[in-house]
Amino acid sequence: MRKSAVQQTGALQMSKTNDYWLQAPDAIYVHIPFCLRKCNYCDFTSFPGHDMQMFSAYVEALCNEIRTIGSWSERQFPHQTIRSIYLGGGTPSLIGASLTDRLIKEIGRHYPLSIDAECTIEVNPGTAQKKDFEAYAAAGINRVSIGLQALQPSLLQLLGRIHDADAFADAVMSARQAGIKNISADLMFGLPGQTNKDVKDSLGFLIENRVRHVSYYGLMLEPGTPLADICDRNPDMLPDDEAERCQYHIIRDDLARSNYLPYEISSSALPGYQCRHNLTYWQGLPYYGFGVSAHSFIRGFRRANTSSLKTYLRLFAANGQAAWMKQDNEEASVFSGSAELEKINRVEAMKETMLLGLRLTNGVSYSVFYERFGITMESVFGEEIIGLKQRGLIVSDQERVSLTEKGLDLANQVFMMFV
Ligand code: SF4
Repeated sequence: MRKSAVQQTGALQMSKTNDYWLQAPDAIYVHIPFCLRKCNYCDFTSFPGHDMQMFSAYVEALCNEIRTIGSWSERQFPHQTIRSIYLGGGTPSLIGASLTDRLIKEIGRHYPLSIDAECTIEVNPGTAQKKDFEAYAAAGINRVSIGLQALQPSLLQLLGRIHDADAFADAVMSARQAGIKNISADLMFGLPGQTNKDVKDSLGFLIENRVRHVSYYGLMLEPGTPLADICDRNPDMLPDDEAERCQYHIIRDDLARSNYLPYEISSSALPGYQCRHNLTYWQGLPYYGFGVSAHSFIRGFRRANTSSLKTYLRLFAANGQAAWMKQDNEEASVFSGSAELEKINRVEAMKETMLLGLRLTNGVSYSVFYERFGITMESVFGEEIIGLKQRGLIVSDQERVSLTEKGLDLANQVFMMFV
């Protein structure tokens, strides 16, 4: 059987490469796995409740992980500079400003931050007050991501969200008064019973509130969640594929008309407000990930921490060095606390470059591909590119390949070609 170029790894290994995936990470993700209450559609790693003692123990464990990896990375990457920090969840705003400040300070002690580092915290409306935003700003946070999801009370109730639209507007106003102007909002579409007008009204509300960035997600029904059960019993509540796609395009088009330019499949931003942190992921660049279930990409390893809170607290207990660091081989020990660990080789890095890069409106540049791998994109993925072009899913010019409008709707079919 004829091997495709990507399978001919022996030949590709001979080519020049800049080993970009071995370079120092310049982004840090921190996972805060707590929420006041579980939303009806959510299967993220988040635990409901409000237990300050638990939050405190978790932040201590996090600081231990940050410190331990930090002392390893100081030697591995002596010239590294961190350009973005992202506190995600869960609901990071639930742990309060003082623990947040403790986290940011611990990061700053072990990872040199660039002077213009983007530092984001996710906020659930109603879980942070004006004084919290002031404390965030004092701690160095300069971007907040606030989940609205929908404007309509009936949809928020169906989703099991803890807030209403007024709480969202209050959070935006408090952030702005505290000096944090870089505000992102999350919106959902394809919800049961959601109309195009609902979507347009929600968008209008975000634009009125002068957020700078919008992320939009189609509902994914996760088995076992309350919303999946409701929809199983009432399948007619869900919009069909065509209606869901129509809402997606309404969002992108309405935002574009207000100068929020789409730069990724699920993201549009005013000029200058693209999310630097997420761009790191989509460009396939290395990053650190700390906390329960956090993923990282370091030294060519994609790894995930345990998703068990109990195991995480045990591994990273703040009683000196974490147990997993007490091994002779330092590099092995850094990765030995992983729940999942995968070494990315050059061929996989090429596929990831395509898979992640095609999410971006700018697509994947021929020159970036060549700089990374010392071989042209066409000589590796020529067949895939021709096939996808014939189906009208991607388009290319002299500089790059990117998704077409049709490709946006059938993106999974495109991505499958690079898995
Ligand atoms: S706030 Fe986010 S992470 Fe928390 S339960 Fe709701 S969807 Fe899940």
